[in-house]
Amino acid sequence: MNIILIGTQGSGKGAQAERLAKHFCIPTISTGEILREEIYKKTELGRLAASYAGRGNLVPDDLINSIVRKTLLKEEFAGGIIIDGYPRNIVQAESLELFFHPDYVLLLDITDDEAVRRVSGRRVCRGCGATYNIVYKKPKSAGLCDKCGGKLIQREDSTPEVIKTRLAVYHLQTEPLIDFYEKRGVLIKIDGEQSIAKVFQEIVSKLKKHGIRN
Ligand code: AMP
Repeated sequence: MNIILIGTQGSGKGAQAERLAKHFCIPTISTGEILREEIYKKTELGRLAASYAGRGNLVPDDLINSIVRKTLLKEEFAGGIIIDGYPRNIVQAESLELFFHPDYVLLLDITDDEAVRRVSGRRVCRGCGATYNIVYKKPKSAGLCDKCGGKLIQREDSTPEVIKTRLAVYHLQTEPLIDFYEKRGVLIKIDGEQSIAKVFQEIVSKLKKHGIRN
C-alpha cells in the first residue's frame, strides 16, 4: 500500500507517518528529514537546501524530484511506502505520477491558527536533536534536553516570520494537490485538530471503510 500524507506544517504528518508505519509494517520517508540530514552533515546538497528551507521556501523541484525518484526506486520500498512531505506542488505530483501511484492521499486538515500555535512551540536539542514542544511535550527542566541536558533551541524554520511564509507557500503551491488527488479518487480528508491518537483512529477507520485491514 502506498500512502502520501499532505497538510500544513504542524498538521501531524510526521507523527501519523510513524504510527502508520508501525501499524501496517510499511516503511516511511520524509523529504524534510532527508534534507535536514544533508544540512546537518553540511553536504553540498545540504548547503543548497538550507538556503531555501531556512527561509520557509521549497527547494527546487528538479532537485527534490530526483532525490525522491532515486529513493522510491529502491527495492526496500517495492512493497509499499508512506511518504511525508512530497509532493508539495503540481509539478512534483506530475513528476511522481510517471513512476508511482498512491493508493491513498491523507489530508490532515488544520487551521492556520492551529498550525502557528503548534509549530511555534517546537524546540529541538542542539546536542542530540531530540524534539520537544513547550505546549504539548514539555522538557522536565525548561530549555534543557531530558536526554542529554543540551540547550533547546527553536528550529530556524519554526520562527513566526518563517511559519507565515511556509503557510503562504502551502496555500499557494500545495493546496492545489487536494483537487489533483480528489480527481484521481484517492483523497481522504482527516480532521487533524484532534489528539494524535484520535487522528490515528480516524485514519485507520477510514482506511477500513476502503477495505484496508491491518
Ligand atoms: P518539512 O519538514 O516537510 O516541513 O520540510 C522542511 C523543509 O524542507 C521545507 O520547508 C522545504 O524547504 C524543504 N522540503 C521538504 N520537502 C520538500 C518538497 N517536497 N519540495 C520542496 N522542498 C521540500
